[in-house]
Amino acid sequence: MEARRRSSTKPFQSLKPTKTVSVDEDLTKASDALPLPLHLSNAVFFTLFFSAVYFLLSHWREKIRTSTPLSVVTYSEIIAILAFVASFIYLLGFFGIDFVQSLILRPQTEVWNSEDDDEVADVLLRKEDARKVPCGQALDCSLPPLPPPAPIVTVQKVLDEKPVTVLTEEDEEIIKSVVAGTTPSYSLESKLGDCKRAAAIRREALQRLTGKSLEGLPLDGFDYESILGQCCEMPVGYVQIPVGIAGPLLINGREYSVPMATTEGCLVASTNRGCKAIHLSGGATSTLLRDGMTRAPVVRFGTAKRAADLKLYLEDPDNFDTLAVVFNRSSRFGRLQGIKCAIAGKNLYLRFTCTTGDAMGMNMVSKGVQNVLDFLQTDFPDMDVMGISGNFCSDKKPAAVNWIEGRGKSVVCEAIIKGDIVRKVLKTTVESLVELNMLKNLTGSAMAGALGGFNAHASNIVTAVYIATGQDPAQNVESSHCITMMEAVNDGQDLHISVTMPSIEVGTVGGGTQLASQSACLNLLGVKGASKESAGANSRMLATVVAGAVLAGELSLMSALAAGQLVKSHMKYNRSNKDVSKASS
Ligand code: ADP
Repeated sequence: MEARRRSSTKPFQSLKPTKTVSVDEDLTKASDALPLPLHLSNAVFFTLFFSAVYFLLSHWREKIRTSTPLSVVTYSEIIAILAFVASFIYLLGFFGIDFVQSLILRPQTEVWNSEDDDEVADVLLRKEDARKVPCGQALDCSLPPLPPPAPIVTVQKVLDEKPVTVLTEEDEEIIKSVVAGTTPSYSLESKLGDCKRAAAIRREALQRLTGKSLEGLPLDGFDYESILGQCCEMPVGYVQIPVGIAGPLLINGREYSVPMATTEGCLVASTNRGCKAIHLSGGATSTLLRDGMTRAPVVRFGTAKRAADLKLYLEDPDNFDTLAVVFNRSSRFGRLQGIKCAIAGKNLYLRFTCTTGDAMGMNMVSKGVQNVLDFLQTDFPDMDVMGISGNFCSDKKPAAVNWIEGRGKSVVCEAIIKGDIVRKVLKTTVESLVELNMLKNLTGSAMAGALGGFNAHASNIVTAVYIATGQDPAQNVESSHCITMMEAVNDGQDLHISVTMPSIEVGTVGGGTQLASQSACLNLLGVKGASKESAGANSRMLATVVAGAVLAGELSLMSALAAGQLVKSHMKYNRSNKDVSKASS
């Protein structure tokens, strides 16, 4: 292992925060060149300056009074002039540069003060820390000098400013014990109390154990505390996904810039073209049809009769109020809407639906369901709860129940695209689009036995927006259920297009939505966090934006297909010119 470690000369990430390394590097200050400590030097030059000024002024006043020409200078005046010049140069150097720097740096300080730009501020701050500053700025360094760590390996100081590896002796010991298996990798966060350091140590141990480099997977620039216990366990870095912007997308009279995280060339450009066509045609209308998250436990009885008894009890309207009170205890936001049951012999599937405010709501609905199951045990003691989720929910799997009943937000979004815009922006005709939609999205999908897949590429847009905004990307399965309809209207002049999406599962609180980058994308859309006006308004608005973006994506891709442009544009934007064999080696 040791040999492996030594042979690895890759510039692994620093195990200490960047700030620490930079401050250590900047410990040489301009004041070190002074023979006296800084405050004594300042005191000497201040005294010299004011004494010389006082001396010269009083002497010149005396000369003016006695009518002696000022050009006649005595030795003491020459000394005073020299003292004045020397102290002036010192003070100008000290305070002048400081003043100039404060002018130059002022705009950045204002950026740091912005509450919304904490992450930007953090990046700028780190850049500032790394800068070697002269004179007053350096002398007045507000960052306290840290005790020098005991660096035992400085693998490489790379010229292109990649991070420098600094492993402290203590870090090295922990890495060795993780590699040896004496310290479990998962326990690093709780043992060290420092998530970034835990990730760095785990990463180094992993590289040694596997003999594979993680160069290219960044470690720095991520807040590891923010994912602890809720988003990702045992982190060793983070994957970077570019975020592109499509828009403005005009829905219900409001413009949105839609963030899309993707590595598929053409996707953002194509969606953007759809947004343009929609905008030029007066915008789209997005309507929310239903809002309710579902969870369906499976319970088992000794007989089918008993299972049927429970089904009848749960579906009896007289029992709903009692069940709702029990369910709603779980959260301020979760409100039971209904229970739909399906029976399979002695087994009963109870599909609970509830509102979840601005949360996507899986946790919320599960808690409510648990309350009801506990309550039911009193009247149905022979009920065996086999699983809190029995797949009749149905989460992250294509299922007809979601397609028909809906899950999360059900939205329909429509627009009338003017014939002129279809020709000029989309480079096709209304007639071709309508015909292709019938053949591809309706007949073709029927031929394929599609379940909710009556569209061209809804999942492309759904997934890109989900990743950008911190949704659960695995829910793209049912969230992408969509039927795209096209019809010629206004005497065949214009195109009516709509997307109907029954199960868009989105939230603006909880899960990955609170992470810095994802939260910035939600902020861009104006739906960050919990709605202050009405619980659930933000997540509902996000669902309408998702449907609107899908409408734009459908419009553009279908037009490209109708015009025969698809292969051409993909060859241009989605094909790397790089030599892939070199990249992989
Ligand atoms: P999910 O249920 O989507 O998995 P969480 O388990 O994180 O997400 O639940 C959301 C949390 O956010 C709950 O604790 C809830 O009380 C809180 N919360 C705060 N404001 C809201 C809101 N406007 N809508 C929904 N939940 C909210």
